[in-house]
Amino acid sequence: MKDNYFCPECHNPLERLSGCGAVGYFCNTCKILISKQKMLTYEEVKERDYKIKNIEHENTKDQ
Ligand SMILES: [Zn+2]
Repeated sequence: MKDNYFCPECHNPLERLSGCGAVGYFCNTCKILISKQKMLTYEEVKERDYKIKNIEHENTKDQ
């Protein structure tokens, strides 16, 4: 579980691809390769979801 990485666009788990001496990560939902710089760890996904929920909560409070 701790080796899982997630798509920065859709937050779905990435599939680990290895070959040609390089390791890549592919999002089956977006159908794109995700670079190591862009992919998210589980903690980062949780943090982003938390921030999104907080922003939505703030917006509903103002209305
Ligand atoms: Zn994706």
